[in-house]
Amino acid sequence: MTTPVVAIRGVTRVYGENGMYVPVLRGVDLDIGAGEIVALLGPSGSGKSTLLNILGCLDRPTQGTYHLGGRDVSTLSPTEQAWVRLRYLGFIFQSFHLIGHATALENVAMPLYYAGVPRKERFAQAEAALRRLDLGERMDHRPNQLSGGQRQRVAIARSIVNRPRIILADEPTGALDSKTGVEVLTLLRELHDETGVTLIVVTHDEKVAAWADRRIRMQDGKVVSDEEVQHAAAAH
Ligand code: ADP
Ligand code: MG
Repeated sequence: MTTPVVAIRGVTRVYGENGMYVPVLRGVDLDIGAGEIVALLGPSGSGKSTLLNILGCLDRPTQGTYHLGGRDVSTLSPTEQAWVRLRYLGFIFQSFHLIGHATALENVAMPLYYAGVPRKERFAQAEAALRRLDLGERMDHRPNQLSGGQRQRVAIARSIVNRPRIILADEPTGALDSKTGVEVLTLLRELHDETGVTLIVVTHDEKVAAWADRRIRMQDGKVVSDEEVQHAAAAH
């Protein structure tokens, strides 16, 4: 493996208070190299989203350590976590999480606004990201004027606009029909090939599992298998 961009050691996450403790992650060790394409699989309730939230600096482990790009991010304050997210991470969700009253351009520019990028520059970068996703003609549209696949492409443009090291996606094809889902996966692999971004995708979708280069399976809050995917020679 190249230098790990993600190094997780002995991570647990326990929810609860008032004497009710629910252990959701029970000791996860995981290295992910820069530029890997990883599918995170497992039954509902196995802890996938909880792990993704920790990977995305949206949550912190109860115990254990998380190094992101060599830096320990397991004990950051919420403000510091927000900075790490803006600087290093992109997010894609099943239901897109676009702002309904904002245009595609405004949605994509949003992370740059929070990162303090001046207005002219953030709109120029958002426009370039939308053009890359073939949405140059849709920049002034609001989400309800776009198809599901177009909405997810806006969300992908938003996820790349800050040039992240890692894109984290939770069921990115879950709300799309099969053909549109494949288009989204193809786009994500193209962006990976262009930028070397690391992709970590939580999914139930067998198409996503087949598309990834590595499959990590979780069960009861632990990693139970971790395998390279053998692609057919012409698969991509
Ligand atoms: P998955 O994404 O694999 O379906 P999750 O990580 O969402 O699993 O959840 C794993 C377990 O943790 C589930 O049993 C869920 O009910 C529990 N859980 C998730 N979030 C919380 C929370 N905030 N408080 C208590 N339990 C939670
Ligand atoms: Mg989940």
